[in-house]
Amino acid sequence: MRPPKNSASNNGRDRATAGPSDKSGGSGADLSGKADYHAAADDFRLLGDATRLEVFWLLCHQELSVAGIASAMGMSSPAISHHLRALRDTGLVVARRNGREVLYQAAETERCELLHRVVESVLDIECPQDRRRGRTQTH
Ligand SMILES: [Zn+2]
Repeated sequence: MRPPKNSASNNGRDRATAGPSDKSGGSGADLSGKADYHAAADDFRLLGDATRLEVFWLLCHQELSVAGIASAMGMSSPAISHHLRALRDTGLVVARRNGREVLYQAAETERCELLHRVVESVLDIECPQDRRRGRTQTH
């Protein structure tokens, strides 16, 4: 006698796949709005370079020419120009022509102001602007 052939009965493939749960809005905040992540990631990528971060921070407090930034940073003007271009492309820094000179400054937007504060929080530095403002009142 031959042993009975094992019939393939254990093909448990028809398990019901878990359908899309229809629990809209569980107990969290609204997590939509992908575009904001992209914009923020661009900003952080840009400021993920120490030189650009420092240039941006400098320009949050004063208007400077390329030469002015270069001397403040101890770098060459061409190197600074390169970084400035990247900062201008994303709108974090704006340029203004003053005679033969071009002066750079952080854009006066809420986004720049926030990034400015984030930089100072992360680096744990006091904003020189706040310090200056505080003192000019008393003296
Ligand atoms: Zn500041």
